[in-house]
Amino acid sequence: MTSGYDQLEIIADFFNTQDRRTRYEGDPGIELLTEPSRLVEWLLQHQLITESDNAASEEELQLARELRNELRKTIVNNEYDGNVEQVKLEQLTKSFQFGLVFQENGEQLVPLHVNAAKGLAQLLIIVYELRRTKMWHRIRVCTAEDCQWVFVDRSRPGTGRWCSMKACGNRAKNKTFRHKHKNESSL
Ligand SMILES: [Zn+2]
Repeated sequence: MTSGYDQLEIIADFFNTQDRRTRYEGDPGIELLTEPSRLVEWLLQHQLITESDNAASEEELQLARELRNELRKTIVNNEYDGNVEQVKLEQLTKSFQFGLVFQENGEQLVPLHVNAAKGLAQLLIIVYELRRTKMWHRIRVCTAEDCQWVFVDRSRPGTGRWCSMKACGNRAKNKTFRHKHKNESSL
């Protein structure tokens, strides 16, 4: 199994399949999971399924998007998506089945599915692991409203606010500065 940070990157990338960065006024963002084949592509890319599991149904695509939307609410510094709806989130996970494999280096949860459902179940196992090992808070959403990019905070405190200090961080600071400056000059 991959390290905690690698797992965090996979989850952040999953959230970013809905890219909300505003490139121009009124930009609706980019949805990457537009059809089942795109979901398969994404799952393969992150090694959550193998070539032999390369199919997805419309329902699985729908489930993937709903899981993404509900899980996104659990990002600790997310101010944009509303409160976590625990019942809804739990409902979405109910169709998944897992087994327990006993290995020399410890037990491991494994999905009891094929195709895209297997990949999504694998993703849920990662979520479970990250929450169990208290790593989840390192998944952050950029607080710049026109960005909302999800990133992994590797800093020691793990309380970062911007996906990049150079871009969004400075932009936010300049904005605050401009606001202040405006207020001062209007006095
Ligand atoms: Zn940002």
